[in-house]
Amino acid sequence: MTRVLTTRAALRAALADAPRPVGLVPTMGWLHEGHRALMRRARAENATTVTTIFVNPRQFDDASDYTRYPRATEADLAACADEGVDIVWLPSVEEVYPPGFDTTVRVGAVAKPLEGAARPGHFEGVATVVATLFALVGAEQAYFGQKDAQQVLVITRMAADLALPTRVIPCPTVREPDGLALSSRNVHLSSTERAAAPVLHRALSAARAAFEEGEREGEVLRGLMMEVLATEPLAQVEYASCADALTLRELQRIEGPALLSVAVVLGTTRLIDNELVGVPR
Ligand code: AMP
Repeated sequence: MTRVLTTRAALRAALADAPRPVGLVPTMGWLHEGHRALMRRARAENATTVTTIFVNPRQFDDASDYTRYPRATEADLAACADEGVDIVWLPSVEEVYPPGFDTTVRVGAVAKPLEGAARPGHFEGVATVVATLFALVGAEQAYFGQKDAQQVLVITRMAADLALPTRVIPCPTVREPDGLALSSRNVHLSSTERAAAPVLHRALSAARAAFEEGEREGEVLRGLMMEVLATEPLAQVEYASCADALTLRELQRIEGPALLSVAVVLGTTRLIDNELVGVPR
């Protein structure tokens, strides 16, 4: 039985006597197979699974992006029930941020480049809501998608620095058969934009292939990704990065684990994707 709760008090009460360990899957809803994979993993590794569905206004740097973010509560609750989630927390904005809420969690260097540079305030919003969720749920484990690789690094840094007792577990990116990473935002793509969208994965795959053939120069790999992205006239490229996988500093030369990542705007929809190289797959 999936219990759907909306208040902080009800969530705390439900968790007081919940079987341990507890696994947490934070989401913004419009749930797809990527979210479901996180829920399945949480369920396999924990006695109680909690999913939160909350479109967090503080992590949107653009007000219209927030208002048009897709929402589908009924279908989301059905997906959670289908995956055997024990508790769904579906709070209002006021429940997460009650009147007087006046704290911001800001992570340092790892939150600055890439998404942090492109979306001012985004990671403050993410870190603040995730810290709140970690405190409310007190889970042993929390599951996050590697699709948002920088988010995983930011949250891992925050949890370590603030001694939060929840372990952050990164999970692989789930893709469409043509390589496009699943994302709630994909619903906004027109059919021509949808046809163009796999170019992100093509660019990353080309760079990965070059890496596997021995290419180690960051500039060459960035250039290769830009070249592939340029084959798609609809794609406006924001960045193509080859960075240290832990610090996210841009690399001249790859000598350890590296994160290849791209951000592209198609029409009015902004898409991101990444590939880790230099680590066992
Ligand atoms: P969101 O609802 O977009 O905030 O995402 C909630 C969680 O699902 C985050 O940890 C995301 O990284 C993760 N996620 C989103 N898309 C995917 C995907 N295609 N594969 C795996 N995880 C994903």
